[in-house]
Amino acid sequence: MRKFILALFLFVSFVLFADAPKYVFLFIGDGMAVTQRHAAEEFSKKIGRGPLLINSFPCKGLTATRSANRLVTDSAAAATAIACGEKTKNYTVGRNAEGKDVYSSAVAAKEAGKKVGIISTVTITHATPAAFYAHRAARGEGYGIAIDLVHSGFDFFAGGGLDGKYKDSKAKEFKKYGHAYKYAESKGYKIVRTKKDFLALKPSDGRILTRMTDGPLPYTIDIGEENPYPTLAELVAKGIEMLDNSNGFFMMAEGGRIDWAGHANDAATNVRETLAFDDAVKVALEFYEKHPKETLIVVTGDHETGGLTMGVANTGYSIDMGMLRYQTMSAGAFTKRLSSFYKKNPSLTIEDVKPLVEKAFGIVFDGLKDNLISLTDKERTDFLKAFESDMKFLKAKKEENRQYDGPKRYILGTTLSKILERRAGVAWSTGGHTAQSVLTTAIGCEAQLFNAPMDNTDIAKKIKSFYGK
Ligand SMILES: [Zn+2]
Repeated sequence: MRKFILALFLFVSFVLFADAPKYVFLFIGDGMAVTQRHAAEEFSKKIGRGPLLINSFPCKGLTATRSANRLVTDSAAAATAIACGEKTKNYTVGRNAEGKDVYSSAVAAKEAGKKVGIISTVTITHATPAAFYAHRAARGEGYGIAIDLVHSGFDFFAGGGLDGKYKDSKAKEFKKYGHAYKYAESKGYKIVRTKKDFLALKPSDGRILTRMTDGPLPYTIDIGEENPYPTLAELVAKGIEMLDNSNGFFMMAEGGRIDWAGHANDAATNVRETLAFDDAVKVALEFYEKHPKETLIVVTGDHETGGLTMGVANTGYSIDMGMLRYQTMSAGAFTKRLSSFYKKNPSLTIEDVKPLVEKAFGIVFDGLKDNLISLTDKERTDFLKAFESDMKFLKAKKEENRQYDGPKRYILGTTLSKILERRAGVAWSTGGHTAQSVLTTAIGCEAQLFNAPMDNTDIAKKIKSFYGK
């Protein structure tokens, strides 16, 4: 009887939703609005990589981002809107403004018999992925979100770990993450610890939760020759392999650190993250090309981060995004190097850091070197001031920069990246989010639904409609 009901259900859904895509990819660039896409594209062209795939999709629409209580949304409210189709207050995950649980397109897909995968380059309990499976009053309830993750029963969770490592919130909470992994295991999840094991996964391995790191994956710009973690593109490729089945799948993949580079006001790191995101969409496009009639790819952002602008005063309207190529590590990684130099040699002088500055930013402090950036007098003064300020904090043993908004203790890295940004012709207005609209682009089956101006809640509504919700 059960089988008969299931068969009937499948038949009815086939008749009702004959046009609905069997395979749905939803890509979310956190903190990626129009300017981030444009800046990354201009940078990409300068380094010979060509235009961005995500900007070339035939269907597009500006998408409003405000939350229920703020014109400037946070990622939790934005993700709840994109995932579940309802506005909520900032910092709320998977609940509407009245505090009622709301359900995502991923849940709808699961109920319709699809396999479901959730991928992120930041922690998998972070606000954006969480909105697809969790229901919590506050995005900071990391442990509760981890438990909700296990209860979702989704098939594939990959990328960063469970632990947000926000040391400034309740430290005790984080000890519990070990239990959350054990709990996941007891409920049938296979916990994957290494990149090697991850790349060797087979569909017969069942439900997956990765623990290759407890925190986020590294910034793309900071990855050396040997990447100990999979890239976002590799996560998506494996996701496709694991989720592909005759009923179809829903996959959400987040480029989570575009946002973090925005908060850090680090343009070179920001554009590299967006390119890595574009590479991941390319993997989905290859799948689409094999199943063009049954596949939909939607690419959006949840909000803008940093108030990134292209065009600064007194540069004669000239922009050269190629200047950002001189930067070879994130400003945050630079600060970490500086601090490790200091630990080895507490009487560090400016002479000692000049080679690192050349390597990290292509900047020569004095004189000229071929193909490197020389400084104006004012820039040299700013450099010295920032160096002295960082030394003061290193001597006082102050901890590393905070990931998010708030005062930045270490300023030399940012001072140097700003020198490149000034020459590139880009600037930032805030260390937080802004109210700008984002761009949604789409290709494939039913992509025309996304060829219109939208509210962020519309994305969820359209995707849910494929699953009869
Ligand atoms: Zn953010």
